[in-house]
Amino acid sequence: MTDDTAPSHPPLATEHGLDPSLLTGLARLAVHVGLNLQPGQDLVMTTPTSALPLARAITAEAYRAGAGLVSALVADRDMTLARFQHAHDASFDKAPDWLYEAMAKAYENGAARLALVGEDPFLLAQQDASKVGRANRANAAAYRPALAPIAGFHINWSIIPCPTPDWAQRMFPDHAPDDALTLLAQAIRQTARLDQPDPVAAWARHNENLARRCQMLNAARFDSLHFQAPGTDLRVGLAEGHFWQGGASVARNGVRCNPNIPTEEVFTTPHAARVDGYVRATKPLSHHGTLIEEIEMRFEAGRAVDARATCGGDVLRDMLATDEGAARLGEVALVPHSSPVSQSGHLFFNTLFDENAASHIAMGQCYASCLEGGDTLTKEEILARGGNESLIHVDWMIGSGQMNVDGVQADGEVVALMHAGEWVTA
Ligand code: ZN
Ligand code: ZN
Repeated sequence: MTDDTAPSHPPLATEHGLDPSLLTGLARLAVHVGLNLQPGQDLVMTTPTSALPLARAITAEAYRAGAGLVSALVADRDMTLARFQHAHDASFDKAPDWLYEAMAKAYENGAARLALVGEDPFLLAQQDASKVGRANRANAAAYRPALAPIAGFHINWSIIPCPTPDWAQRMFPDHAPDDALTLLAQAIRQTARLDQPDPVAAWARHNENLARRCQMLNAARFDSLHFQAPGTDLRVGLAEGHFWQGGASVARNGVRCNPNIPTEEVFTTPHAARVDGYVRATKPLSHHGTLIEEIEMRFEAGRAVDARATCGGDVLRDMLATDEGAARLGEVALVPHSSPVSQSGHLFFNTLFDENAASHIAMGQCYASCLEGGDTLTKEEILARGGNESLIHVDWMIGSGQMNVDGVQADGEVVALMHAGEWVTA
């Protein structure tokens, strides 16, 4: 799963080339499926300026659905770049804590949360890496109060994509800007199931399928998963009392919502000390503006003891050195190779999409909601069950049409779950 994203660096405002029916379709999905916004409920939305056409459509749809008050926080690409070009050095240790405290207050008072994704994924790639790192760290620390109700699933929240020219240009650099935007819009239409006659009904069916898959896995109570593919032979122990999740779930305020659109994964919490073997990435990882290619990692007793990449290896090893938990797993997720995101054949340079193209693992922080009784567990109890703790949560793709996945019971019995990238049972 991908977390709530702090409001950050975005691109140019333009309505050029976007089909209005795509915007109204995305707005309906955001309000009725992603958020399931309740009558009278307030909404806090963050958006890049480049996604303002969608933000406006969502605002209208939210009020039609009975929203109390919609408040939008806007970030702009050129304003973000202006800081890196002109700000005094001390600026890069600052973050608007007052703003994030206000967001936390809004959630406490019952507001829902929506993040629009559309930023240029490599906006800061050419900027001073140490300044980018300091700004990210300062922002992450200040953002904590606003992230806690999201991570703890106190409120209904969602992340929704918007096709934007800057993002499209990164994905399709060889196309003219209009064509690139059209290609990204098509990819979002298909992966968000907006190409189906009744997208809201299509999401209800998809959510049912994911829920059925989770029930099967939760009933099986596997001790570990065994992944096998070219370059991969990895055994991932599962945390004690692990709990599989996928698709829509019910937040602690009682509202059923879809935190990510699109979503194709079922995922749970691995055991931070019981991962062994070697694993090869099947897609490049876009991390803080760097593309890390052909990752290979070897695990011993839960820890990544060897990590290589043909490109971006230093960034990868830096990431793993963030803290003690950064070299251990916090998530394992199963995604069939036939998922619409995988079938699009695109690399989106955004976790919201790329993690839904293939089975994946994530380095770092685990989701307490993927443990039975997770809401009520203390940090010590989560760690005792094998949950992991870290400042990072970075998903990377290991699945492919050549991957087999087995579930292994505590008594050693092996159950085939996926063969050649697809679920064995319908
Ligand atoms: Zn995931
Ligand atoms: Zn994840």
